[in-house]
Amino acid sequence: MPPNPSPPEIAVIGGGPAGLITAEVLGRAGLKVTVYDQMPSVGRKLLMAGRGGLNLTHSEEFERFVTRYAGAQSRLRPLIEAFRPEDLRAWCEGLGQETFVGSSGRVFPKAFKASPLLRAWLSRLESLGVRFALRHRWQGWGEGGRLVFTDAAGQPVRVKPDATILALGGASWPRLGSDGTWAELLSRRGIAISPLRPANMGFTFPWSEIMRSRFEGEPLKRIALTFEGTTVKGEAVVTADAIEGGVVYALSARLRDAIERTGGATLHLDLRPDLSEANLANRLNAPRKGQSASTFLRKSAGLSPVGVALLREASPSLPSEPDALARLIKAVPLTLTGTKSLDRAISSAGGVPFTEVDEHLMLHRMPGVFVAGEMLDWEAPTGGYLLQATFATGIAAAKGVLASLQIPDAALTGGLSSATGQT
Ligand SMILES: Cc1cc2nc3c(=O)[nH]c(=O)nc-3n(C[C@H](O)[C@H](O)[C@H](O)COP(=O)(O)OP(=O)(O)OC[C@H]3O[C@@H](n4cnc5c(N)ncnc54)[C@H](O)[C@@H]3O)c2cc1C
Repeated sequence: MPPNPSPPEIAVIGGGPAGLITAEVLGRAGLKVTVYDQMPSVGRKLLMAGRGGLNLTHSEEFERFVTRYAGAQSRLRPLIEAFRPEDLRAWCEGLGQETFVGSSGRVFPKAFKASPLLRAWLSRLESLGVRFALRHRWQGWGEGGRLVFTDAAGQPVRVKPDATILALGGASWPRLGSDGTWAELLSRRGIAISPLRPANMGFTFPWSEIMRSRFEGEPLKRIALTFEGTTVKGEAVVTADAIEGGVVYALSARLRDAIERTGGATLHLDLRPDLSEANLANRLNAPRKGQSASTFLRKSAGLSPVGVALLREASPSLPSEPDALARLIKAVPLTLTGTKSLDRAISSAGGVPFTEVDEHLMLHRMPGVFVAGEMLDWEAPTGGYLLQATFATGIAAAKGVLASLQIPDAALTGGLSSATGQT
């Protein structure tokens, strides 16, 4: 009998969720998979994401969901259709981590954090025979197209797999491993890279000394922000030199682009989105009875001390006339002067443009090399959209590897339960 041919060897570079899901799909298909990562352990950003509650995906209607990917929507749509939000939830539950839908429609594991999920996932990968080469920093390609790594001892390691998946992440929070240095390695091979820029980050504002010293770290609850005709409700927080938080992140792509174009962006902050301007003016018409302006605004308009301080930032001499004051409370202008750095952004925009990859996410210029996750050029607001696209692109790249190696896998059609062979 002829000996069994040994299975194809696959190098997955990057052990974030994109790399790990490709490893799972390929491991299930019987391939010999090694995950390389420069850090001493994998999934560090996933663990960080779980700190404030791991927002896996979102429960909103699919047609609305895909609009969140803005310019990348047309390329991501078929990939997310093949691995939908409900598939991601089912996959998570298959690892023993029940999920729930929060009040805003966001989906979380019941455990809220990422560590139980990651633990169960790694043990599944181990049982599939996936190997891990940690403290291996990828350095590009060497002679004969071999992948070159440096190991923990600084020694070069060269490998020639049958296919490679690059899942190196974006460039935010570089201390967690995703440092974006791959951009230079790919540029050297003639691959166009869209500049890596912060996404879902704070914006700088020159707060007065009073604001900084008294209100740094104060939350602005139940506010609404409007920029270029789009209004988003939620929460923000005042930091030493910036305004941050979910409601700011939701508008961050547009604000960032406007700042890049013109050097500033003026947004309008509604401190009482639940009250109409007329209702507010009515309340502000009440007699002041000798109260200070701050006390009066707190009592009649229900503003928090930080809200009152914010009004003074925009208009140091507050209007005395109720209609004008109500107008200001409903639309406090803040001219943002810059973006916070990529280092502390939730995610990054830019990366490998979709024009550089085919529908299987294989690089046109480098057959056999596939790209997945945040290193592709797409961006989305927070709300679970980042992880959903990370997983969907990982699964698409893994399917692409199987197709390129002509490995038939009937189980790899359709949704998640078949895509990952979940039982
Ligand atoms: C604070 C925070 C909170 C977040 N919360 C959420 C959330 O609730 N919901 C959500 O959807 N998203 C969230 N995200 C975003 C989400 O974590 C990322 O989009 C996701 O981790 C991207 O996955 P990835 O696999 O593409 O890349 P990463 O998770 O960044 O993984 C890339 C891996 O590649 C490795 N690597 C990089 N360069 C090299 C190299 N040269 N050699 C070897 N290895 C290398 C890195 O060490 C890393 O392990 C959050 C992010 C942050 C920072």
